[in-house]
Amino acid sequence: MTFKVVHTFALEGVDLGEKLLSSLDVSFVKGMWRTENEIIKNAKDADAVVGAVSIHPFNRRVLGALSKCRIIGGIAVGYNTTDVEAATEYGIVVTNVPDYCMDEVSGLAIGLMLSLGHKIPQIDRAVRERNISLTMDRNALVEVAYPMFRMRDQTLGIIGFGKIGTATALKAKGLGMQVIAYDPYVLGAVMETHGVKPVDLETLLKESDFISLHTPLNQETLNLIGHEEFKKMKSTSYFINTARGGCVDQESLIRALREGLIAGAGIDVTIDEPIAATNPLIRMANVILTGHSAFYSVTSESELYVKPMTQVVMALKGEWPTYAVNSEVKNKWMGKWGKKD
Ligand code: NAD
Repeated sequence: MTFKVVHTFALEGVDLGEKLLSSLDVSFVKGMWRTENEIIKNAKDADAVVGAVSIHPFNRRVLGALSKCRIIGGIAVGYNTTDVEAATEYGIVVTNVPDYCMDEVSGLAIGLMLSLGHKIPQIDRAVRERNISLTMDRNALVEVAYPMFRMRDQTLGIIGFGKIGTATALKAKGLGMQVIAYDPYVLGAVMETHGVKPVDLETLLKESDFISLHTPLNQETLNLIGHEEFKKMKSTSYFINTARGGCVDQESLIRALREGLIAGAGIDVTIDEPIAATNPLIRMANVILTGHSAFYSVTSESELYVKPMTQVVMALKGEWPTYAVNSEVKNKWMGKWGKKD
């Protein structure tokens, strides 16, 4: 049987894992199709679709038009632009790549924390622009770097103790820091096995010197951190967001930075991406912006693009894919597409 696999997010120069399809009789079609109509036009007779499930519209209309499709192989951790409920109704399994960049994102969160804590951008700028040695010029050192604290004496508060939150906590423990965490869905005992103290959100906001956000974006976490939360933070604290822009009320973040409710921020993700040229965060010297690059390394990028194809191959062979996000459809799906031994 010949299958049709359509890749709707085929970036140039990236290994899409096409080689994995060679064990099957497959016609492979690839392109960069962003709109509903483009996706429908190119994928309507596909048995499997690979696409950007957190950027492009895999909504009810699109999914309903994919009449033969058994799997949407998503290229991302999140799948916020995909109507998973509609996919379940249409008997389509949706997969994501939940485990490709834990090390990279936690690494950037720690990198932002160290950069903020050690004031690396400010010192770098002073050295380049003023041609000074900060060992010999204490006044300049104080002007640029004061106050700075020993990291080992600092407390990191992690909001969202999932895969990336846990990896960030473990790295911070390696630096000798105290780590506390808030996650209503993770048992305190699990945090304690990692040497992390479970606390409620209010305690975390009040006691942390650095706060790192690692929740998913959903109805519950939309604007999770707003003015009330920033008001509870220490004025010397730093806020780090490598999760999703929507988890933070951006106006409140800007206000907190302007009014000195916090000392600075490390921001990888914003509501508008790319960030607007008029966004005040761009002009703030105590803010580090990393433009949603946290996921990236040579290794993680390769996993991000190849892993969805492993899911497609499983699905075309009648096997339930490892990274299915809508297990509710499993019985129906296996009844229709599952391998009959
Ligand atoms: P995960 O599902 O493993 O962990 C998320 C944790 O958040 C879970 O433990 C969950 O219980 C917790 N949580 C849910 N609601 C909460 C709430 N209201 N308060 C506190 N905790 C809550 O996810 P992950 O893989 O660790 O990813 C974390 C975040 O990082 C996600 O937002 C993801 O989209 C983002 N991410 C960003 C990048 C990037 O490039 N910046 C890359 C990958 C992932």
